[in-house]
Amino acid sequence: MKLQSYALGEWYTPPLDGSPIKDASTGETIATVSSDGLDFKAMLEYGRTVGAPALRKMTFHERAIMLKNVGLALTKAKDELYELSYQTGATKSDTWVDVDGGISTFFVYSSKGRREMPNQPWYVDGDVEQLSRGGTFLGQHIMVPRRGVAVHIDAFNFPVWGMMEKLAPTLLAGMPAIVKPASSTAHLTEKAFKYMIDSGVLPEGAIQLICGRTGDLFDHLTCQDVVTFTGSASTAHYLQKHPAFTEKAVPFVAECDSLNASILGLDVTKDSPEFDLFIKEVVREMTAKAGQKCTAIRRTIVPRNLVADVKDALIARLGKTTVGDPRAEGVRMGPLASLDQREEVINRINDLKEYCDVVLDGTTEFDVSGGDYKAGAFLKPTLLYCDAPLETPEVHSIEAFGPASTIMPYDTTEDAITLANMGEGSLVASLFTYDPEIVSDVVMGIGAYHGRLVVLDRTSAGESTGHGSPLPHMKHGGPGRAGGGEEQGGIRAVKHYMQRIAIQGSPDVLTKVTNKWVSGSKELEMDAHPFRKTFDEIKIGDTLHTKERTVTLEDVEHFANFTGDTFYAHMDEEAAAANPIFGARVAHGYLLLSFAAGLFVDPAPGPVLANVGLEGLKFTKPVYPGDTIKVRLVCKQRTARMNEDFGEVRWDVTVTNQDGDECANYELLTHNTRVQ
Ligand code: NDP
Repeated sequence: MKLQSYALGEWYTPPLDGSPIKDASTGETIATVSSDGLDFKAMLEYGRTVGAPALRKMTFHERAIMLKNVGLALTKAKDELYELSYQTGATKSDTWVDVDGGISTFFVYSSKGRREMPNQPWYVDGDVEQLSRGGTFLGQHIMVPRRGVAVHIDAFNFPVWGMMEKLAPTLLAGMPAIVKPASSTAHLTEKAFKYMIDSGVLPEGAIQLICGRTGDLFDHLTCQDVVTFTGSASTAHYLQKHPAFTEKAVPFVAECDSLNASILGLDVTKDSPEFDLFIKEVVREMTAKAGQKCTAIRRTIVPRNLVADVKDALIARLGKTTVGDPRAEGVRMGPLASLDQREEVINRINDLKEYCDVVLDGTTEFDVSGGDYKAGAFLKPTLLYCDAPLETPEVHSIEAFGPASTIMPYDTTEDAITLANMGEGSLVASLFTYDPEIVSDVVMGIGAYHGRLVVLDRTSAGESTGHGSPLPHMKHGGPGRAGGGEEQGGIRAVKHYMQRIAIQGSPDVLTKVTNKWVSGSKELEMDAHPFRKTFDEIKIGDTLHTKERTVTLEDVEHFANFTGDTFYAHMDEEAAAANPIFGARVAHGYLLLSFAAGLFVDPAPGPVLANVGLEGLKFTKPVYPGDTIKVRLVCKQRTARMNEDFGEVRWDVTVTNQDGDECANYELLTHNTRVQ
């Protein structure tokens, strides 16, 4: 079977067979892969001119719903994807991470997109900056989708998740993508991709697929495109030399090999719960996906007095790992992705052996459960020990991308920090300790060299997702050797596919651009009270000026006794006089809020369903008994909720006194019905 690419809105079958993709356990050829004959320039152009405008027209909420629907379509394909995944050497639990993890990434971005981004096509980043004394010249950062195509080059180890973790933020940002999976597992990516296309949910041109090489694609990149890459550091360095990156400043986001560390804290003894947790986690990271995880624990950093216990415990547990064809009964660890990959890993382990003692050697031939050692890429776990890791830089730089880890002893927390940082930049590290002082020392000590740090102890272990699981909510990526990228991390990742622009102008200009009423903008007069208007009738800038109310001493005392808030500044003449801020008795802030509501509320049943919150409250000037207040209520922002029959209205509320001075300001949130 020839794998197909998806280009210019059609499936494309290459004329020639291309390179074979083999079942990782049996060595049988499953498919061939080639991109011969694809017009890469036209693919980029198609993405820019067909996919990009369609996505840009959609709001973040519409794109978020799109992600959810694609995820739902893929859920129906799970059985088929699991079958194909076994051929890549993945066990059922490995596949769960890849397939279910990929789908859930779409769901998480869908929900975050709707909760944390506006229902409009561009993003307002941060707050308005006051650039002039009089407030007539202001600034605001916004982010708009880049106008090019995101080219995603993925690694072989997670053929579904690897594609989806990059696609989710890209599509949510409003940018089309071209996906290029690693050839050795591209048949699984191709199948998942087919389900995404067949769902009919994505606009034409939003995603394209290259099975095979990328040809002259890089020659046609422009400054609006982005390339994201996952794979080896050597390929990343080679690709980065292309003029697209050196001359046209096309962003290149890389996620490469890293030698991730796990540290057992100095406080831990053989009997602490953290000891067992550490052993379980190191074994899990060495054997899950046969150690072919960018986040796997390659360096096991252990207090010197516990080395013997750690070795014994790891040998005992690793010895129970049944290696074989993932389709066979009882198999806990599958083969590596290919025979080439096994050879590569054995070579790297042999390199490491020059600097380490062998604790457990998995590189020799063995009886494979349900498989044949020569036909499949089977390999048992290998455990090494380096006695002087501070003086041996090689053990911090040679990566065996398989079921292998090196134990390294240390004497002080400072040394453990130095060892962790000798990896010169990692995706993740973990720390097993129950001592908060060790936590703060390690966080400050290794933070700058790591993308993520998982601190595990008896409290969090039960619910923890563990050392090796990147989560869509949290940053995935690391500095230095790890490539310097940031593939995930909630809305942070979405911003990589958008351009930040500083908009400077008058309040009215900023109101128009941000779709949010900015202080100083025009106030729109209304023919009816704003609480009588449905969500669809309210306009940004609609303003109500209330009548006045004088605050009396009786009001203050009544409120104090009624609520129980008899704080001295409201009730004790002498003590209040001595207060340097007030100098006399003042009205409660909460009394002001209540009076403000009493002034602006229209009481009859109507489109306002509920007051759902209040944000950014500031009391800017005290209100004294005898002061007269009034309120200005302005519609600041409207957020329609997809598939809901109400929307959220954000009101700017300002309370002023008889001199026109602002006493309080806040944003009030209401839910208003859409039609009546
Ligand atoms: P590679 O760096 O060889 O390949 C990664 C991706 O780049 C694949 O899609 C590959 O496609 C593509 N690629 C390679 N050369 C080019 C090129 N000249 N132009 C365009 N695309 C290219 O890594 P592998 O997947 O072979 O894995 C090798 C090593 O990478 C592992 O041993 C491990 O060290 C590291 N790795 C790191 C990962 C991480 O997440 N940090 C994940 C997986 C691997 P093709 O397959 O068609 O060659």
